[in-house]
Amino acid sequence: MGIEFIFDELQTLKDRALLREFKTIESAQDYSVQISGKSFLSFSSNNYLGLANHPKIKQAAIAAIHQYGWGAGASRLVSGNMTLHQELEEKIAEFKGTEAALLFPTGYMTNVGTLCALVSKGDIVIGDKLNHASIIDGCRLSGAAFRIYPHKDTGQLESLLRRSSGYRRRLVVTDSVFSMDGDTAPLPEIVSIAKRYDAIIMVDDAHATGVFGKQGKGMIEHSGLEGKIDIIMGSFSKAIGSIGGFVAGNKHLIDFLKNNARPFVYTTALPPAVCAASLAGLTFIQENPSLIDRLWKNIAYLKSQVLEFLNTTSVESPIVPLVVGSAEGAVNLSAKLYENGILIPAIRPPTVPPGTSRLRISLMATHTENDIDKLLNTLKSQMAQIFDL
Ligand SMILES: *Cc1c(COP(=O)(O)O)cnc(C)c1O
Repeated sequence: MGIEFIFDELQTLKDRALLREFKTIESAQDYSVQISGKSFLSFSSNNYLGLANHPKIKQAAIAAIHQYGWGAGASRLVSGNMTLHQELEEKIAEFKGTEAALLFPTGYMTNVGTLCALVSKGDIVIGDKLNHASIIDGCRLSGAAFRIYPHKDTGQLESLLRRSSGYRRRLVVTDSVFSMDGDTAPLPEIVSIAKRYDAIIMVDDAHATGVFGKQGKGMIEHSGLEGKIDIIMGSFSKAIGSIGGFVAGNKHLIDFLKNNARPFVYTTALPPAVCAASLAGLTFIQENPSLIDRLWKNIAYLKSQVLEFLNTTSVESPIVPLVVGSAEGAVNLSAKLYENGILIPAIRPPTVPPGTSRLRISLMATHTENDIDKLLNTLKSQMAQIFDL
């Protein structure tokens, strides 16, 4: 016995159409990307506003490199804390309407670090079944009792809370926009139930930041819940087109996480230029809300067309799942689109539940109606061929 099992496991994944492999993008990330020397229309990134390749953002990063160099050299608490980390955190707090904020290198680390710092053995954490993997991993790693309720089922949430009186702390955590389904959590209801049971409320606003709310401030503002969420988590890796996660909340929470969140304490600070890019992204969307309007125009256009022939549930965000079912079916459809110049990788288990493999269509503000027409026409003809429609 050695590491031969690895080959066997890879083979098993391959046989089940579950093996994942990269494609390599040779261009910048945009609505159109280059792979193997050819252009593809991309409906597959989280770069909803096209900021990942925006001149203003690039300029901000370059200027920061000139002023501050590249690396941060140490963790924040040792000697890596720099002006731009501080400025970005102040900006996040202003943007999210909280007292303070804390940056983490990624959203994944933010969720794991925050959950592990706040709950442990003797506590209970309760979350939606379709929460992001980083939340699930944080819940598991925390050592707290971990319960899930069926997707968006607030009745079940309440019944779990009702039976949780024996625990020291209770924490309810949900995505605001679900990353693989694009639907939205019933936040006002969740908040009022959690409050009734005196539970801590944590909302992952990764896909709503830059997309929902006035000036893209996110789902909490959009739902009129400012001041009611204990822990707002977000990421710069989606609509802001950058990298880095954050928690926004009151000053005590932020001081606590600075001291207790291990993925914050024991890792090197983000390069300052990364913070400059994120800062420029936030500023840009505040000053140019028309960019967000353009994204929503595209969402409305797709919605008006898509429901005619797809059995997708509803379109509530730039994420539109086209559920195929089998992993093989999703891979085949993705390959057919690819042959026709469209990039939408298949999303398969364990990212989504078995039997719900899908193409996750994601829209950008920079797509044109023509681009969306091309996607829909190609989908129509390919699906007719594959599924005998
Ligand atoms: C992408 C995502 C994360 C992780 O963010 P990264 O910055 O990419 O690590 C966390 N939560 C949700 C809901 C996400 O979609």
